[in-house]
Amino acid sequence: MTSPVPPSSVPPKTDPWTWPEAVWRGAVEHVRAGRSLKPAHWKDGAAFAVAISFDSDHETIELRNGGRSYSKLSQGQYGARAGMPRILAMLQRHGVPASFFMPAVAAMLNEGEIAAVAAAGHEIGIHSWIHELNSVLDHDTERDLALRASDVLTRLSGTRPVGMRTASWDFSPWTLKIIREIGLLYDSSLMADDEPYELLDGGQPSGIVEIPVEWIRDDAVYFSMDRFAALRPHGGPQMVLDIFLRELDLAAQEGGLFQLTMHPHQIGHRSRIWILDEVIRAAKARGSVWFATHAEIARHCAQEAGMTAQGLPYAPAAKGRS
Ligand SMILES: [Zn+2]
Repeated sequence: MTSPVPPSSVPPKTDPWTWPEAVWRGAVEHVRAGRSLKPAHWKDGAAFAVAISFDSDHETIELRNGGRSYSKLSQGQYGARAGMPRILAMLQRHGVPASFFMPAVAAMLNEGEIAAVAAAGHEIGIHSWIHELNSVLDHDTERDLALRASDVLTRLSGTRPVGMRTASWDFSPWTLKIIREIGLLYDSSLMADDEPYELLDGGQPSGIVEIPVEWIRDDAVYFSMDRFAALRPHGGPQMVLDIFLRELDLAAQEGGLFQLTMHPHQIGHRSRIWILDEVIRAAKARGSVWFATHAEIARHCAQEAGMTAQGLPYAPAAKGRS
């Protein structure tokens, strides 16, 4: 295994209360929020911004777990087969763009879907190979899967992705280095703010925009269910809408960003899709809103802040770099 990460940034497997300051500080500072990139002005003078996203995981949740449950695979297929047409129709009806983060395997299983998403003008972002967790991979494997995923999405959509959302928002010690090496514009997997910010890499500005997510603004948190475990939905769709609208209201009052994550196999159901409709209607009712893809938000924030990309040089063999 090779690693571009200095050993000092990885906490030792000793009791945390015995760590010297350099260890706990190094762990925190390895990847951290830097300056806020909340812009003074949103595009065209809009009072606030809305960035809607979908993680099109479909069958890869079950595959990632090594499972072969045809029941769970069919739940995933529902997302592509029944959920996506509803979602795309609703976005089209409202004239609202969105970002779709797709595992490469989900994109290959559903080539018609990724083509339709691209044809509708929505953004397609990297979302792992098969929804694997980065934190269990070594550096070379994570890097290889990210590069191959980017190539697959490029081939199937016709456009090279500029953003990444890690699967399950799982961020390894080298994920940021890989994002920089690929030359991406932004990440959307971390949660240090409501507003976009610049990621610090070892305390230094990375040139990578973070479009922060939150489990609060994720439909899967409220709707997930496992027949053979205690996992059940927290409440009904009205509760979820209430939470999303409260997030939206304060984002609008603060002149900030309202970012939302949904999953076609969750929100795409008949009893839930109306939540998306209500959220879009509520945002429009405020009169001055910029609906944008995550890439558009990231680009706007970077430009407003005078940021320049500080990607790392691409090196086929990532050995020995720090
Ligand atoms: Zn996912």
